[in-house]
Amino acid sequence: MATATVPRVRTKKIAPYAENVEILRSAVFHTPKNAFAHSDALVAIPDGALAIHAGRIAACGDYIAVRAQYPDALVRDLREGCILPGFIDTHIHFPQVRIIGGLGHSLLDWLEELALPAESQLADTAHARIVAREFVHGLVSHGTTTALVFGSHFAEATAELFCAAEHRGLRVASGLVLSDRMLRPDLHQSPDVAYRECKSLIEQFHARARLSYAIMPRFAVSAGEPMLEICQTLLRENPTLAFTTHINESPAEIAEVARLFPHSADYLAVYEKYDLIGRRSVLAHNVHATESELSRLAAQHATVAHCPCSNAALGSGIFPMRRHLNAQVRFALGTDVGGGTGFGMMKEALQASLMQRVAPEPLVLNPAQMLYLATRAGAEALSLDTETGDFAPGKAADLVYLKPSTGSTLHTVLAHTEDPFRKLGALLTLADRESVCEVRVEGDVVYEDKI
Ligand SMILES: [Zn+2]
Repeated sequence: MATATVPRVRTKKIAPYAENVEILRSAVFHTPKNAFAHSDALVAIPDGALAIHAGRIAACGDYIAVRAQYPDALVRDLREGCILPGFIDTHIHFPQVRIIGGLGHSLLDWLEELALPAESQLADTAHARIVAREFVHGLVSHGTTTALVFGSHFAEATAELFCAAEHRGLRVASGLVLSDRMLRPDLHQSPDVAYRECKSLIEQFHARARLSYAIMPRFAVSAGEPMLEICQTLLRENPTLAFTTHINESPAEIAEVARLFPHSADYLAVYEKYDLIGRRSVLAHNVHATESELSRLAAQHATVAHCPCSNAALGSGIFPMRRHLNAQVRFALGTDVGGGTGFGMMKEALQASLMQRVAPEPLVLNPAQMLYLATRAGAEALSLDTETGDFAPGKAADLVYLKPSTGSTLHTVLAHTEDPFRKLGALLTLADRESVCEVRVEGDVVYEDKI
């Protein structure tokens, strides 16, 4: 397998103060606790500050207190906007950036007509390199600092994604997408080839800089038992890898899985048979889960990636969030580009809130829960919650600075409320890509605009 050229990480240190402490003065919002379990999970600091030293959070609190702690620090005045933790997208597809907006389909025909042709084009590695750059730019320009990404069916294209993410300085977990049937023939690998290519990619990219590797059969429809066995082998050989795939997305897909695995009690059991479900597993969608599946997911501490824009765009159904909460199944948010409607995690959080209002078992999400789902819940899903997801001292300074444009509706709303819940609610409702001014990972600027 050809190895893509590895450019050096393009990050901008906060020189000449890199050895010292830098203070960002701004309104700060974060959720250091699970906002579904704790009513006081939201920390909102109107005149707040983050002190950053060597890429880590040295302090987070009221500006006056942080300033007193670090009187010699450089202070940047960012009071025109707000700082949130960098967003964490737990489900997104690298090859599908150019097919966002293909509305009017359901899952299986959307795959055949739009997604799989786009996936096939990545056999051309030069094309894959361009798409990888477009994809990574889409992430950072929307404030996403960490993502669990479905790579390509082609090893070289997957390597291009890893290199593009490393070049930009993002935290990305990804891998070769595995399928041995039911797609287009050019997207199928034999299990033996898949094993060899995964091993090579793991050696090159797992635990390299901010990258990590995840095992990812596309879904049970396209991964037969020999391929699932390869997944099991790879996870046994590499116990620090994550595992991700799709589950219970649409009724037609579930019927197909039942036809292909007639001896399996349900969809989850297909993966359980090969020991693929555990604390490091992230299963996308789970819109049509049975009670038994929910209780088993909870017992195995797996996480569901909830993708509300995609669920609506493809008509897959309304995510049963209340049932997941009742069963104590962990979940976080994913944009599911390109079945979803774009890279924006704030939009995803808003869509989650709107859909739950009209769900058969409705639920009212508050802004703290929405922020938690877009940040810390994702860090927990990826076992990165000691590293990122909120601004607890010692964690990496992964952040997004949002500034409303003068004259924008967001600017107007923020100027007329002091209530932190309403401010955060306005941000999550009205802020978009245009509001993203600066994004940092571990203190390094990975994106900036309009500062
Ligand atoms: Zn997906």
